[in-house]
Order: sequence, then C-alpha cells, then structure tokens
Amino acid sequence: MIVVEDDKLAPPGVAEQMIHHLRMDRCPDCRQHSLRPGPRGGAAQNLTCDACGARWNVAPPRYITFAQRID
Ligand SMILES: [Zn+2]
Repeated sequence: MIVVEDDKLAPPGVAEQMIHHLRMDRCPDCRQHSLRPGPRGGAAQNLTCDACGARWNVAPPRYITFAQRID
C-alpha cells in the first residue's frame, strides 16, 4: 500500500489507516462518508470530500492499494 502526501510517502502505519478509510468510503481527514467520485482515468479514480474538500487520486478504484493527495 502506498500513500503519497505532499510529494512524500506516508509512513507505513499511517498509509495503511488512510487506505482503510478510503476503502470504507470514508475521508481520511474528517472521517465523513462524503467522498464523491470524480474523473476517472485508466485504472485511477479521483475522489473529492464534500465535507472538508480533501482530494485524492486512488487506484485501483475497487480495492485501493495506492492513494495520492491532490492539492
Ligand atoms: Zn473530508
């Protein structure tokens, strides 16, 4: 599992938690079920949190193993 935040790799424990939240359709930042799917390109999917505005690029969409925060 890989989570990239601000161009840096998140530490393993933190990355696992964030991926877990994303898989559960929860925002890793505010823990709300407010993720809205956005544009999809290839195997990647954009998610935007309607509650706090956090944006993520995740892949693959069904069982996420990669997530990158989008500024
Ligand atoms: Zn949020």
